[in-house]
Amino acid sequence: MKPWERVRAFCYRVGVEFRICDRPPRPCPFSTHLGIGWRSRTLYVSATHLRDPLTIGQAIHEIGHIVATREPPESADELDFTGWESAAASICGVRRWWYSLAMTEYGTDELDEFGDLDTTAQRAFIRRALTRGRAIGNVSPSGRPVSLR
Ligand SMILES: [Zn+2]
Repeated sequence: MKPWERVRAFCYRVGVEFRICDRPPRPCPFSTHLGIGWRSRTLYVSATHLRDPLTIGQAIHEIGHIVATREPPESADELDFTGWESAAASICGVRRWWYSLAMTEYGTDELDEFGDLDTTAQRAFIRRALTRGRAIGNVSPSGRPVSLR
């Protein structure tokens, strides 16, 4: 299975509709080739971006907005589901792409951006994110992603 097909299969498993379209009807603020209808549990993906690896990482993040938090996208604390994203990217086999997204776009709630940290500090950050996810309930004790809605 290709990476996008695995993400699509994951969407199916967590009850999110994966819709390929020309232009997403509700574009995400930082990735306008993706859109989410969080109430309708729909992920919209622009057909022209299906081969863009960075988009796969962004898709994992947007699916997180739909299932890994109870907050609407505009008021969600994204660090609440960074651990979920890491777990979801792992089981989708797209961790490499999710990581490149994190390297360029993720803040850490500390002084540094994720991409500025060294490898040891990045691993520690992910470990803390998984611990936070377990406390919130969107990561299982064994490290699998858990849906909260
Ligand atoms: Zn977001």
